[in-house]
Amino acid sequence: MTEINQDFADGVLHSRNPETNKNDYGRILCVCGSAGYTGAAYFSAQGAVRMGSGIVTLATPEGAWPVLAVKLNEPVVRPMPQDENGLFSIEALPKLLALAEKADALLIGCGLGRSDTLTEIVCTLLEKAACQIVLDADGINSITGHKDILRRTAKPVVLTPHAGEFARLSGKPDATAADAAQFAQDYRCIVLYKGHRTRIFTPDGAAYRNTSGNPGMAKGGSGDVLAGMLVSLCGQGIDAVPAACTAAWLHGRAGDLAANALSEYGMTPSDMLTQLPILLKRYN
Ligand code: AMP
Ligand code: MG
Repeated sequence: MTEINQDFADGVLHSRNPETNKNDYGRILCVCGSAGYTGAAYFSAQGAVRMGSGIVTLATPEGAWPVLAVKLNEPVVRPMPQDENGLFSIEALPKLLALAEKADALLIGCGLGRSDTLTEIVCTLLEKAACQIVLDADGINSITGHKDILRRTAKPVVLTPHAGEFARLSGKPDATAADAAQFAQDYRCIVLYKGHRTRIFTPDGAAYRNTSGNPGMAKGGSGDVLAGMLVSLCGQGIDAVPAACTAAWLHGRAGDLAANALSEYGMTPSDMLTQLPILLKRYN
């Protein structure tokens, strides 16, 4: 198993070429949020912004839109049709497909909620989008009964489950990291299996182990920041596996800086978003 450390990240990230503009740093589409989960959508979009994306668009149900449009300055926030529970409705699907066509990378799932319609929306996006896709949280929960779809995507999808989400997805309540490794091979996807020492498993059987991070990160919103950072790196043209490993490393390091400054008890995912740019100064 390859260890992910500073040298690994330094092999992936480079300084930005002066002769560039925002179109050179990826157009990210986040399909995230619902009436009850505005924070997850916020953290994912802001994770993508702080990781250096050129343009971040957040598509979110119209009931969540007023909150998110006020909270987020850099991303473009697009209101989408919703059902009576404040979740994406089926009328959102053609609009999401049109937005996905223009995206360099797509994040689906943070704060999405669950419904049969969402399963249809997530599966259709997986089948039709040509760009790199990151599937997190309720995006993962949505495909539990449709795992075969993972074999039919344009590029291997990156799934970012914590242990509970992976247990649900695999149908094994006591699933382990070894099961996640097998799943990546069986379904031709990349599994970023989150935990104290996050592991990344690839379709061809490779495995990576992150060495940064601390239990101060065990708080709601933390994984959403990671999902945003990861889709950002994908949108900047980094291949999915090095992007996943580098995002895991930087996310853990941002957590370690936040813990040093503010304690494991008191640090928040918002503090990790503040610390991340300090880590990235080495790539100026
Ligand atoms: P989520 O459960 O989706 O919010 O994701 C939690 C994030 O925090 C993942 O990136 C985990 O790797 C990280 N995390 C949670 N608990 C710990 C821990 N005890 N040590 C290190 N990282 C953790
Ligand atoms: Mg999560």
